[in-house]
Amino acid sequence: MDDCLFCSIADRKIPANVVYEDDQVMAFHDINPVAPVHVLIIPKKHISSLNEAEGHDQELLGHILLTAGKLAAELGIAEAGYRLITNTGPNGGQVIFHLHFHLIGGRHLGSKIA
Ligand code: 5GP
Ligand code: ZN
Repeated sequence: MDDCLFCSIADRKIPANVVYEDDQVMAFHDINPVAPVHVLIIPKKHISSLNEAEGHDQELLGHILLTAGKLAAELGIAEAGYRLITNTGPNGGQVIFHLHFHLIGGRHLGSKIA
């Protein structure tokens, strides 16, 4: 999709520090990390948010979750623990309207969600 930052990153038109890529998903370091590990996992296909995900995206969404778990292990945060977040819509604090999951770890995040 034109004018979408994360589509441009997925298309390699805008650079990012990519940690994982396959035919369906890409993962790259957040430009403004809130913890020692802060990676964004996106579908390469444009989906604006979880609100726009459909039944035929089920396998893709499952693949993103499994990728998050694998990346947590590879990045060395699996055992100590981490958080996986998808902000949705204005009240959810979503700024970039291309579905993404924040994989955050490397420090104690506390039990408060918001
Ligand atoms: P949201 O609030 O939409 O869930 O989060 C968007 C995230 O994208 C923020 O954590 C922000 O730091 C990150 N971000 C914004 N622009 C860029 C960029 O150009 N490159 C990278 N790697 N991350 C970005
Ligand atoms: Zn997009």
